[in-house]
Amino acid sequence: MRLVEMKAHYQNYRRHLATAREAASHFQFDLVVERAEAAIPFLAGMCRYVRKKEQKERVDFHAVELVLRHAPLILDGQAISRIADFHKANRSVFKYSARDVPEALSRSRDELRQAFELWSVLDTPNGTPMQAIHRFPSIEKRFSQRLVEAWFHIGLLQLDDRGAGQRVYRNLRIDHSNHTRCRHCGVNLSMSFDDYLASPPCPHCGGVEGMVLIESAHTTAGGN
Ligand SMILES: [Zn+2]
Repeated sequence: MRLVEMKAHYQNYRRHLATAREAASHFQFDLVVERAEAAIPFLAGMCRYVRKKEQKERVDFHAVELVLRHAPLILDGQAISRIADFHKANRSVFKYSARDVPEALSRSRDELRQAFELWSVLDTPNGTPMQAIHRFPSIEKRFSQRLVEAWFHIGLLQLDDRGAGQRVYRNLRIDHSNHTRCRHCGVNLSMSFDDYLASPPCPHCGGVEGMVLIESAHTTAGGN
């Protein structure tokens, strides 16, 4: 790869990374994952360019980190698997990663497990006291705090602060008509959360493994 090509890859990478970070600042986790993944094809070129221009031995793979950090929040195990596959196929690139990617992958998978676990323990008709949420032994407190904050933003949870103490409920509405978007064709769809977790092919374009959970505001902004 010539220097001019490396530079183009570097610039494309940076552009996608910037849009992913912007989505992160708006709590649009589906877009963070999608845009950070769009940077991945330029990772190798970016890495070569940075090593050459900045004389660095190790390079930060922020796009990979963004995916692994945000995918568990929207229970997107497929995004984690895609990074794992890419990592497996590109060992020669990842040897220059400043961070231990296998470790980040296993952490991300563990957070995904914790997210599923928290989602199922919150399935109780009387809600869960806010205090109790961060005391489940198998869910790290630091992660449950991120998770609950994220889920309030997406609309997966609702809060009842009447009576003594705050109680957290799974948003019942979301069990019936959930907001999802197809990563392949961009169509917004309603499906139950259980259906979402089963990751069906898109009924619109037939694309597989493309359904992502989105904030309810995305769909209302679309004018329904
Ligand atoms: Zn589709």
